[in-house]
Amino acid sequence: MLVCRSRKHLHLLWKKKKCLEMAKSPETEHPVKAVGWASRDTSGVMSPFNFSRRATGERDVQFKVLYCGVCHSDLHMIKNEWGFTHYPIVPGHEIVGIVTEVGSKVEKVKVGDKVGVGCLVGSCRQCDQCSNDLENYCSKQILTYSMPYLDGTITYGGYSDLMVADEHFIIQWPENLPMDKGAPLLCAGITTYSPLRYFGLDKPGLNVGVVGLGGLGHVAVKFAKAFGTRVTVISTSLSKKKEALENLGADDFLVSRDDEQMNTAAGTLDGIIDTVSATHPLLPLLALLKPHGRLIAVGAPEKPLELPVFPLLSGRKSISGSGIGGLKETQEMVDFAAKHNILPDVEIIPIDYVNTAMERLLKSDVKYRFVIDVAGSLKSN
Ligand code: NAP
Ligand code: ZN
Repeated sequence: MLVCRSRKHLHLLWKKKKCLEMAKSPETEHPVKAVGWASRDTSGVMSPFNFSRRATGERDVQFKVLYCGVCHSDLHMIKNEWGFTHYPIVPGHEIVGIVTEVGSKVEKVKVGDKVGVGCLVGSCRQCDQCSNDLENYCSKQILTYSMPYLDGTITYGGYSDLMVADEHFIIQWPENLPMDKGAPLLCAGITTYSPLRYFGLDKPGLNVGVVGLGGLGHVAVKFAKAFGTRVTVISTSLSKKKEALENLGADDFLVSRDDEQMNTAAGTLDGIIDTVSATHPLLPLLALLKPHGRLIAVGAPEKPLELPVFPLLSGRKSISGSGIGGLKETQEMVDFAAKHNILPDVEIIPIDYVNTAMERLLKSDVKYRFVIDVAGSLKSN
């Protein structure tokens, strides 16, 4: 009897577990079917993935994804280089699309509107940071992908046909801003615009350096030029020189591995935005700063950088960091870009090219941002 009861009990437990497992499957945990491309392990290789999105809540906006930029953070994350990836991961946080459904209490947008979602889909909305429109520094921020949402399910990003987000995290897309080229503004744009503004590197006449001419770097050049500063690009790729000077509007170009060029430019810059995605020496960059100059790290290499203190002491120089931006500032940045005609330079790709795109991104072989034509190439179920 005891055996029988305990068997029955075990069976019930197993059934409960099975039910929970089924309930927790990405495909069935929510009512709305979705399809995307996901990486399942640290190889980072992506392939089609069926999952689901939550029903549109009263403050939610659901939208059809048209385009999604490919950020180097996506590459760090699909390979778990930062150590907090949840697999399967659907990356993508430069997402633009058209609203398909809104909740009853949504005021910001309506069906048919153009919208965007960047790196955040949640924050506590109560702390000092949130109260000051700095959701990006909220300790309870929820990233657009690979993070537990409020209901405990994992967030999935924009390499997918459909998105849903609380309206607070929705960006209203300016009518005259192209959606394909503009998508990268939602991460690359705000990540460079915000520190240029916050650290006062937005004053005409200042000398600003931009290290790494990739997705973030090339947008940094465009914003810094729009603010009226004089811009020096510091790059490992001599092949980018002509275009940086002639098309992006940079004033100077230094090859970071050319000691002679770097020495000649020593002590000339007021500030530097460092967008480099891999380990690199800081010493030659700090040498480029004037006394009181500031190097702002926005690139996020997986391994720590070596910090030489003597150049800091001898010129009262500083090193800071900056992470994306709050929602209010992101809207301001997108509106500024639309007004000043600032558009990233992009290579539009179909979603089944994304694995090759990642290989090329790793080799800095893109001018300057891949954008996935999601609606035009992703097969829905
Ligand atoms: P990206 O397009 O790959 O650009 C990075 C650039 O860094 C490359 O184009 C290359 O420029 C340079 N670079 C690459 N490897 C290098 C090396 N070993 N030594 C020196 N320079 C090297 O990447 P991204 O999308 O702009 O992102 C850049 C970094 O910012 C990533 O780490 C990303 O995760 C991070 N990120 C941070 C935030 C934030 O909130 N702080 C937001 C978004 C992204 P050259 O060819 O000109 O040398
Ligand atoms: Zn990004």
